[in-house]
Amino acid sequence: MSVERTLVLLPLTVLRMQGIHFKRLINRKPPCKTNRINRILPIHLLMLGQFMEALDKIKIISEDPYSYASNLKQATGKPVVGNFCSYTPEELIYAAGGVPFRLFGTKEDISLADAHLQAYCCSLVRGGLEDALKGNLSFLSGTVFPHTCDSIQRLSDIWRLNAGFPFHIDVVLPVKLDTQSARTYMIDVLNAFKSDLETALNVSITDKKLLQSINLYNRLRRILGEIYEMRSIDPDCISAADLYHVIKASMIMDRDELLELLLSLRDDLKKNLKEKTLNTNKRIILSGGICNHPDIYTALEDSGAEVIWDDLCTGTRYFEGEIEQGGDPIEAVADRYLTRMVCPAKHLTVTARGENLVRLVKDRNASGVIFMFLKFCDPHSFDYPYLKQFLDDAGVPNILLEVEEQLPSDAQLKTRFETFVDMID
Ligand code: SF4
Ligand code: SF4
Repeated sequence: MSVERTLVLLPLTVLRMQGIHFKRLINRKPPCKTNRINRILPIHLLMLGQFMEALDKIKIISEDPYSYASNLKQATGKPVVGNFCSYTPEELIYAAGGVPFRLFGTKEDISLADAHLQAYCCSLVRGGLEDALKGNLSFLSGTVFPHTCDSIQRLSDIWRLNAGFPFHIDVVLPVKLDTQSARTYMIDVLNAFKSDLETALNVSITDKKLLQSINLYNRLRRILGEIYEMRSIDPDCISAADLYHVIKASMIMDRDELLELLLSLRDDLKKNLKEKTLNTNKRIILSGGICNHPDIYTALEDSGAEVIWDDLCTGTRYFEGEIEQGGDPIEAVADRYLTRMVCPAKHLTVTARGENLVRLVKDRNASGVIFMFLKFCDPHSFDYPYLKQFLDDAGVPNILLEVEEQLPSDAQLKTRFETFVDMID
């Protein structure tokens, strides 16, 4: 753990007691140029902000997203807009002056949400509602619900009636995405969303603002892709757990501040990248829904496996696909959704995801796949048997790990992962 990070985690009073060391830190040359972020960090982080490296800042934000969002709202007045899914048209929210904020469930016990949702809903949906009902999300100006799985659709109704945020917008996207009528419908839905957002936030989303937003999102997605590529070449350049924090922070931060941090991080990683990796762990791909458990990556590394790519909602599904620039911006946003690989809540052909997964394994020189999704996640559970069949037919070892908010014990995880690693050639 770096000196800066250790100090960041200490209360300010303790820092004062350590006057000499703190002064020494003050005199240090800042290692990176990312200072704008400081204005939204808590006071003790603010004092140390300029001395922290990009990754340290990202991890602090990822570990305490609610404090970050509250401070952001207080400091900038920007509306923070909650959402649960990679099909949220974030480019429009940014163009409206908002900050798209991904919700990841709760770390607290679930009690209030049980009055509204059955116990067999996934922990993301139950946990999100729990935090909303407890007032933990009071920084949100509103929420956007792309209609995807059944649980999210039901949650949207319950949320609208009970969560009490100033605005609530449903975005009823098409399910089957490979037809001309789906494209026409998708464009209509996005135009309706634009108009709903303009009313909710009392702004006008001009083409100029939207084009600027698209440009920014393309840059952010490209940088995330570059960082993933670097890690695929040399997994030692950044740990998988740290990369998880990068993706998570990318889904919650003010995107202008994020761009500065990502540029700084990418440049740091580039400088230290080895042409040929010394890492001898087995290369695996993680496939599934959300992963909100950095400990899983560490447990895998300890067992001799390295996640070198993923097919996750909290991974490549968030950033893959660029938006074409030059034409109608709304149509361009729609085309990204229509051309990127679907999640299991959407449809292309019946074999598209299976073919894609086998191709990923080959392209990334991976030796196995771990399927990981939340218990009671219907879309991923329905797709699992056929995806497994595709991998089995291609001779790719694979296992399934269903998780909830609480992970199995370290010992259990280690045993499962070690057994899997032994299966891989
Ligand atoms: S699986 Fe699909 S619907 Fe569910 S969160 Fe991921 S992108 Fe959204
Ligand atoms: S796709 Fe799965 S994990 Fe995501 S909200 Fe729906 S049921 Fe939950």
